[in-house]
Amino acid sequence: MSIAVFPGSFDPITVGHVDIINRAAPLFEKIIIGIGNNIQKEYMFPAEKREEWIKNTFAGNSKIEVRTYDGLTVNFCKRMHAVYIIRGLRNSNDFEFEQAIAQMNKAMAAGIETVFIPCDPQYTAVASSIVRDIIKNKGDVKMFVPGAVKF
Ligand code: ADP
Repeated sequence: MSIAVFPGSFDPITVGHVDIINRAAPLFEKIIIGIGNNIQKEYMFPAEKREEWIKNTFAGNSKIEVRTYDGLTVNFCKRMHAVYIIRGLRNSNDFEFEQAIAQMNKAMAAGIETVFIPCDPQYTAVASSIVRDIIKNKGDVKMFVPGAVKF
C-alpha cells in the first residue's frame, strides 16, 4: 500500500496546504497529515486545535488521516509504514531548504522518498507565518485558510 506522510506545523492550515493535499491524494492510497510537535518551537495554536481544523477540513475523505507526532519525521514515517514524504514548493527558498532536508532524510532512511509538488501560482504568497501575523494584528484571514479554521 502506498502510504505518504505530509508533515508540517500547520499553524494554522492554509488554502495552500489544502491544495497540495488534494492534488497529492490521487497519487497515493493513503495520506497521513503529520502535525509536528517540536517542544523547542512556539506555536500560535495548540496541537489539538490544529488537528481538529485539519480533521474537519478533510472529513469525508477516507484516504486522509491526521496525527500529531514528536521527533524525527522519518521515524514517524516508519511507525506509519509510510515510504513517501510529500512537501509543497512555493519558490526557490522553499526548494533550497526542502532539498537539504530531503537529502538528510534520505541519508537517515534510504527507503523513504520525498515527493515535491509545486504550489499552484495563486497560493505562492500564502504562508502560515503571514496568516499568524494578520491574526495578531486583527486582520481577516478568511481567504487564506479553509472554512474549518475557527478561532
Ligand atoms: P513547516 O513548519 O514544516 O515548514 P508548514 O506547515 O509551514 O510546515 O508547511 C508544510 C508543507 O507545506 C511544506 O512543504 C511547505 O513548503 C508547504 N506549504 C506551505 N504553504 C504552502 C503553499 N501556500 N503552497 C504550497 N505548499 C505550501
